[in-house]
Formats: sequence, structure tokens, C-alpha cells
Amino acid sequence: MLYGYVTHPASLRHEMGPDHPEAPARVNVIHDYLLAHGILDFMVPMSGPAATRAQVERTHSALYVAELAATAPTTGYRRIDPDTLMSPHTLDAAWHAAGCAVLATELVARGKLASAFCNIRPAGHHATRDAAMGFCFFNNVAVGVRHALDELGLQRVALIDFDAHHGNGTQDIFAEDERVLMVSTFERGLYPYDTDAADGGNMCNVPLEPYTRGDALRDAVLTRWVPALDGFAPEMIFVSAGFDAHREDDMSHLLWTDADYAWLTRQLVAVANRHARGRIVSLLEGGYHRLALARSAGAHVRALIGAD
Ligand SMILES: [Zn+2]
Repeated sequence: MLYGYVTHPASLRHEMGPDHPEAPARVNVIHDYLLAHGILDFMVPMSGPAATRAQVERTHSALYVAELAATAPTTGYRRIDPDTLMSPHTLDAAWHAAGCAVLATELVARGKLASAFCNIRPAGHHATRDAAMGFCFFNNVAVGVRHALDELGLQRVALIDFDAHHGNGTQDIFAEDERVLMVSTFERGLYPYDTDAADGGNMCNVPLEPYTRGDALRDAVLTRWVPALDGFAPEMIFVSAGFDAHREDDMSHLLWTDADYAWLTRQLVAVANRHARGRIVSLLEGGYHRLALARSAGAHVRALIGAD
């Protein structure tokens, strides 16, 4: 079995200021952990190309893509919202992050890889069809899902989002697209403040109360996610893998541990084995406490490739 580890050096050049929590070091600490713990020995390292305009415009409007290009700074920063800034290297990183998603999708869907993890920045799940927000520019997971559906001919794809923040952008893009089932947990009341988001149809949103531990997550997974996923029987699974629900990460008030990420991932692997020939593409979203990020992403990837 071959497992993909997909990244690109452009992920390290995008930055939003010296004190910004969404920093290039996030990618490095995950890489170093996977390397130091022998996990990368089981994986095929790959460099993702830049996505094509057509691949990105399946998810984002042509007007939005053109506006981003036209307003990208050549020096300094352009502030999109209080926390989201474009530097001269941001767009290159965004095109490659989306391209990593496409490459991983292509190889996993065609059976060349059993599954893949994309260690990429900028993240994507807050980016809507027409807007950047919340550290996100292109919705990488959505670009991958649309590639699977529109280019590779898959008919049912599940998208799991376990970041502490709701993937409002992903929901915006796939609401009422019956080819996609989105299941998610997130902290109620946290950014982007839509955490009573619609639950029903192709959206299975399970808000978790602040200060709850992994047992609340496990209950949500077993009583809500797994029945919905088994009913849908996805042909492939995508994961918006954010690690900011970790108890050491102060970007949320959830209290998950490394072991919760391992358990959660094993549940997803079991669903993928039942319905999707094991095919999973996982993409980095949030996670800001660097040691906790490295350990919990390590636990996730180890379970993803069956090495735990
Ligand atoms: Zn987050």
C-alpha cells in the first residue's frame, strides 16, 4: 500500500506577519514530527503543482479569482479581514495548496495511492465561493472534491471537517449539492459565528459545547456521523483536518487529546474501508499550538496509514 504525503515549498513562503498564529512553522513542525517518528518512512513524498484556473474555478467564481490576482500586493500586506492578510507570496502558496489537493485526489481516486495527507497552507475551509476569510483564500478541500466529482466521475463523496471552527466556506460551496455529504463538529459560538448552521439535507453539523472533552466528540461521531456516512455510502472521503480543538490550543475551548485524533481517524478509516475502498484524502486546516499540532497531526496520519 502506498500513502501520499503531499506538500509544496510555497506553503512556507506565505506569511501574515511575525506574530500571526497561522505561521509557516506549522507545516515544518508536522513534517519534522512525521520524519522523526518514522511515519514518513511509510509515505511517498510528493510536491503538488499549482492548480489550474479551471480546477479552482469549479469552486470559486472567476470574478473572485481575478480580483485576488489583481489585488495581490508586490510588497507588504493587503488586509482582507482583521486576521487574513495577503503577502506577495500568498497567491503562489494558495495555487499550490489547491494543486496539492487535486494531485492527492487524482492519485487516491485512481488507486495509485491508498490515501494521502496534504501538509499545506493557506488553509481553505472558511473560503466561500466568492470571498477569502479566516486565514483562507482557496477552499482546497472543495477543489479536491469538485475534481473527484466533475473530472473523475465519482458520484458520492463525503467530506469530514473536525476543525474547531465551522467550515462555513465549504458549506457555502456544497449546500444542496446532493453528491456531497458534509459531516462536521465544531465549537458552538466560535468564529465564524454561524455555529447554529443548518443541519439537515446534505449537511450533518454537530456543534459541541465549549469546554467539552473528547467524549462529546466520540458521542457525536458514533451517534451522528457514522450513521449518516453509512447511509450515504461515499465512494471517497475527504477530511478537513484541523487540530485546534486540542486542549493545549487556545484558539478554541474544546479539550481534545492526541488520542482523540487517533480514535477519530480510525473511525473514518473504518467507514472508508466499508464503502470507499479505503480512499481518504486529508488536508491540513487549523491547529496553532505547535507541539500539540505536531503530535495530533502525527496521531492522525499514523492512524490514516494504519501504522498506529
Ligand atoms: Zn480552526
